[in-house]
Amino acid sequence: MKIATIIGARPQFIKAATISRAIHDYNTKVSISESSIKKYSQITEIIIHTGQHYDANMSDIFFREMAIPIPDYNLRIQECRHGAMTGNMLAGIEEILLKEKSDWVLVYGDTNSTLSGALAAAKLHIPVAHVEAGLRSYNRSMPEEINRIMADQLSTFLFCPNENAVQNLYKEGFPHQLSKNNKQQIFNCGDVMYDASLYYAQMAKRPEFVEKLPVDEGYILATIHRAENTDDPLRLKKVMQDLSKLSIPVILPLHPRTKVKLEQSAIRLGSNIFSVEPVGFLQMVWLERHAQVIVTDSGGVQKEAYFYGVPCVTVRDETEWVELIDAGWNWLAPPLSSDLAQVVTEVIGSKGNDSQLYGNGDAAKNILENLTIQ
Ligand code: UDP
Repeated sequence: MKIATIIGARPQFIKAATISRAIHDYNTKVSISESSIKKYSQITEIIIHTGQHYDANMSDIFFREMAIPIPDYNLRIQECRHGAMTGNMLAGIEEILLKEKSDWVLVYGDTNSTLSGALAAAKLHIPVAHVEAGLRSYNRSMPEEINRIMADQLSTFLFCPNENAVQNLYKEGFPHQLSKNNKQQIFNCGDVMYDASLYYAQMAKRPEFVEKLPVDEGYILATIHRAENTDDPLRLKKVMQDLSKLSIPVILPLHPRTKVKLEQSAIRLGSNIFSVEPVGFLQMVWLERHAQVIVTDSGGVQKEAYFYGVPCVTVRDETEWVELIDAGWNWLAPPLSSDLAQVVTEVIGSKGNDSQLYGNGDAAKNILENLTIQ
């Protein structure tokens, strides 16, 4: 069996790492059910990197630290507008898929790489499996929302991380059962990010720069990268002003887009904010686990805060991960209408419900079993 994996952005490297490891386990016959072993002797994975994220600290470090197999192809499609990027990826991926003739195409999450991979495969009649299917913000001004809705439509297997995602698909009319006219199947497999958080927690690395920062009494970890915040100077300024009001140090690993936008709008950071280059995943896990509160607009970081038992304030108007709010681990602070500094101060020390919101840490294995058993 041959799987073509399409990745291009930082969170996809982390998600794909879990499946690559499950494929390795399958091929070496470790912890996989008898039924799937019988069907295929080996699974070959072809990794196609679109090049969407390309900086060493946004791409290479993840492959190295997380032992992800080196991509078989790198399309190096970078820094163009959404339409051009998606179109260029579509053409590049199609060419590779025609050559590789894989049995499945695996796409992750909600980026332009996800959409182009799903579209290229569907047009070639190669079944698509979407990992992290069914997520919705119900805000169509987000490029991610368009990408995930389209990817779900194009997919044959929809691997949802939780029951809310499954229900979102049913609400949109996705069928509950297979029929002659419907080959789409929905699975609640758990979240591969939870698998990653468990596996890599053991390897977390304290970043060297922490030693030089005045963080002995604690710190806030913040990440801001979503277009709705970075591309609106008013919102970006308000977020940074609010963080600057805090009396606690803030460690801010700066996404390249955020860095450019801060410079373009000449937004000054308070003296309590320590901006650093993006860190590798192992350092990120360390920073997350030791933070008093995490402030973010990232999807993955919201969940990691919960995995590591750290309260999280989400700097957005809505979130796809609504169960985190219901469970008392996450608070929304829409930038223009809330006092972020006050919300952060209030949630220090909070603990939410003890619940298993994203499966048992075996999502990657579940996904692979479904791909191989069918
Ligand atoms: N991350 C990282 N280094 C950083 C910032 C984030 O390794 O400097 C990781 C983070 O732990 C999470 C993932 O990147 O696993 C989230 O990626 P991002 O916020 O770019 O995307 P999103 O999750 O919003 O799609």
